[in-house]
Amino acid sequence: GFLCGVASDSVRCYLRHIKWLSHHDLSSGLPNRSALFALVKEVLTEQDEQSEAYVLAVISIENEKELLSTFGVSVLDSAVTQLVTRLQQKEAQIVSIYRINTMRLCVLIRCAPCLERERFFVQLSTLFREPVRFQDIPIHLDIRMGSVALTDEQLSPQAYLQQAESALAEACNKARDHVSFNPAISTASKENLVMLGELKNALTEKQLTLHYQPKVDMSSGKVHSVEALMRWNHPQKGNIPPGIFIPRAEDSTLINQITYFALNQAMAQMVLWQKSGISVPVAVNISARNLLQSDFCSVVSLLLERHGLSGEQLELEITEGVLMGDEQRAVAELNKLAQAKIILSIDDFGTGYSSLQYLHQLPVSFLKIDQSFVRRLPADKAAISIVEMAVSMAHKMNIRTIAEGIEDQATYDFLKNIGCDMAQGYLISRPLPAAEYALWHRQHNGCLG
Ligand code: C2E
Ligand code: MG
Ligand code: MG
Repeated sequence: GFLCGVASDSVRCYLRHIKWLSHHDLSSGLPNRSALFALVKEVLTEQDEQSEAYVLAVISIENEKELLSTFGVSVLDSAVTQLVTRLQQKEAQIVSIYRINTMRLCVLIRCAPCLERERFFVQLSTLFREPVRFQDIPIHLDIRMGSVALTDEQLSPQAYLQQAESALAEACNKARDHVSFNPAISTASKENLVMLGELKNALTEKQLTLHYQPKVDMSSGKVHSVEALMRWNHPQKGNIPPGIFIPRAEDSTLINQITYFALNQAMAQMVLWQKSGISVPVAVNISARNLLQSDFCSVVSLLLERHGLSGEQLELEITEGVLMGDEQRAVAELNKLAQAKIILSIDDFGTGYSSLQYLHQLPVSFLKIDQSFVRRLPADKAAISIVEMAVSMAHKMNIRTIAEGIEDQATYDFLKNIGCDMAQGYLISRPLPAAEYALWHRQHNGCLG
């Protein structure tokens, strides 16, 4: 009987442990996702008009990969423990804290009016800004939060967590500390995923084409090069502008395939034009992500070789601001491209500010003044001084300038007067399909006026 009692005690103890495990995160001892779902379910069923309402918030360590690769797994456990201690200072509002995966905490908060709720999240962000310590090293955590109010008892705890996660994704995309969920967020992210899926098909189903727009030398009037601009002819939705689909592709690895397609297509076109007597370099727009692709320069060089072209015949346009984030890697890749004799331009100049300080280090030949300034010429004083400054600064660095988006003669004349080197815009030609561009080029004999 005694033995039996011992055995059943240890079985009970073991069962209790198993039960505990099923509701806790082993390394931190915090309740886990199942425990969270159980409590949310309880809260939702008990919630009536008089009682308190609640908010569910996901708190995520976004620089987790960097932390893991530098310090190993234990850094996350230590960071989480320190975050929990800070959260406990807010016990008046925070009902309970859960660890839902290695880098994410979830908290259930007593709901306050909207404005106060915002203030509460600002206070949390301030708490998180202080570095945590690991092996006596102060470590910065990049923390983002997404939250959702538990207002509808019909929704499942899983659905609420998903909404908080999509608010978190929005916070990451918009580089904000905290975002509260609203239905537009999940619609937008669903549309995004659908569009990315369709874009992938578009690549294989030949819905993507390039149109070409000339850039003209203002002193000689000769066509200097043509810019390839992507067009998506969607079978149901019609033309989708690159301003819509490129930024979405840029957030995923699909942009590498898009750029490869543009480069390959532009080079093939260049060769065709050459055969018909039109010899003109083509400029292709590339994205930040391309420069961070470690073998980007070799991909481009290989393509040039395959088409029998040399580096000088290809121009790459890189949007200003691209160099934010990982400047060193981007600059290293730009240098490789320049060594391969590829011509580099900074696109949309004036819209970012980050690369200004790096401009003198960059191996670029051209600066494209953004159309938002060009459009305001020749009347707007602020635009005039920015454009004049850009032209003189570029010239001091031996960089030539192009004005994009020129729509009228007055603007063209103004720019020519202040010494801008090249012009591009509807005044000269709209972006045209390849065959139409060839006609345009022949009509103008590769030269304006
Ligand atoms: P961007 O490279 O700065 O291209 C200039 C944009 O201005 C093009 O819009 C062009 O059609 C338009 N444009 C040209 N002249 C005029 C003008 O006189 N007036 C006005 N209002 N607009 C003018 P688009 O083709 O819609 O392209 C938008 C942006 O999408 C491009 O800006 C570029 O950043 C991106 N993009 C286009 N094709 C590609 C591509 O193949 N790859 C990548 N990564 N980005 C691309
Ligand atoms: Mg461009
Ligand atoms: Mg531009």
